[in-house]
Amino acid sequence: MRRMTQPKGTLYLVATPIGNLEDITQRALRVLAEVSLIACEDTRRTGVLLARFQIKTKTASYHEHNEQERAAELCAMLEAGKDIAVVSDAGTPCISDPGFRLVRAAIERGVRVVPVPGAAAFVAALVASGLPTDEFYFGGFLPARTHARRARLTAVKQLSATLVFYEAPHRIAHTLSDAREILGEREAVVARELTKVYEEFARGRLSELAARFSTEQAARGEMVLVIDRKVIEDEAEREAPSSSVAERVAELEGEGLDHRAALKRAARELGLTRDEAYRRLVSERASAEE
Ligand code: SAM
Repeated sequence: MRRMTQPKGTLYLVATPIGNLEDITQRALRVLAEVSLIACEDTRRTGVLLARFQIKTKTASYHEHNEQERAAELCAMLEAGKDIAVVSDAGTPCISDPGFRLVRAAIERGVRVVPVPGAAAFVAALVASGLPTDEFYFGGFLPARTHARRARLTAVKQLSATLVFYEAPHRIAHTLSDAREILGEREAVVARELTKVYEEFARGRLSELAARFSTEQAARGEMVLVIDRKVIEDEAEREAPSSSVAERVAELEGEGLDHRAALKRAARELGLTRDEAYRRLVSERASAEE
């Protein structure tokens, strides 16, 4: 007797908008409506998108905390012939978002994996940044811890590629000032709120952007950081007063500013946050005393 083999289902990786719902593709809508299940990072968030397009497909949660066990369940469904779409909260699944484990598991089981391309914040930021697009390095999120973040920046310092990172608003000022210190002065762009009402491309040197984003007001919304491959070596750079916080603070105190105001001004001029400037001041004074 010949045994009938059940055809396996397909795993679709469906990109969704990063802000503007008009960025959903026709194909994404068709696939989302046709599959048996949509695995979402956040079912409520995806629910809003589905309701907007009157899509009634069942959803299940699939996020970084249940990725491993959920991947096994979803693979069992795929092997039983069901088609499944994976979406993340925004943009392309697997890009700084869950999906990778499921893709691996599906490939290992011989399940067909089909991308349904669309929005990805790093591509939108890069193409409108005005920085070279011929060669680029996408580093996802830099580590949150200072030491690890600085080590990662050091590791990419010599690359002859435009550097692209995702960053959280509360860390952007620190990252910009670390980047200035480790990569040297470079042109950069902070692409904020892409495709949304307050979309903005803040362009400038790393030190200028660090100063600009050091206020809470400026550092808001979702953002992508794009950094040029070249270090700026010009007159302004060579004539910069001093990169030592202690020296600059002493100079400013000599000009009559009190300590607090001098530190604040030095931090701004050097493209550092106030905390960072203070830490550097303490460490420079400690090394001077050794
Ligand atoms: N999978 C998404 C993609 O394809 O771009 C990225 C998800 S990741 C968890 C979220 C980060 O992407 C945000 O912190 C921000 O750095 C970036 N991002 C997402 N949407 C954005 C937008 N509309 N404008 C600027 N950056 C955005």
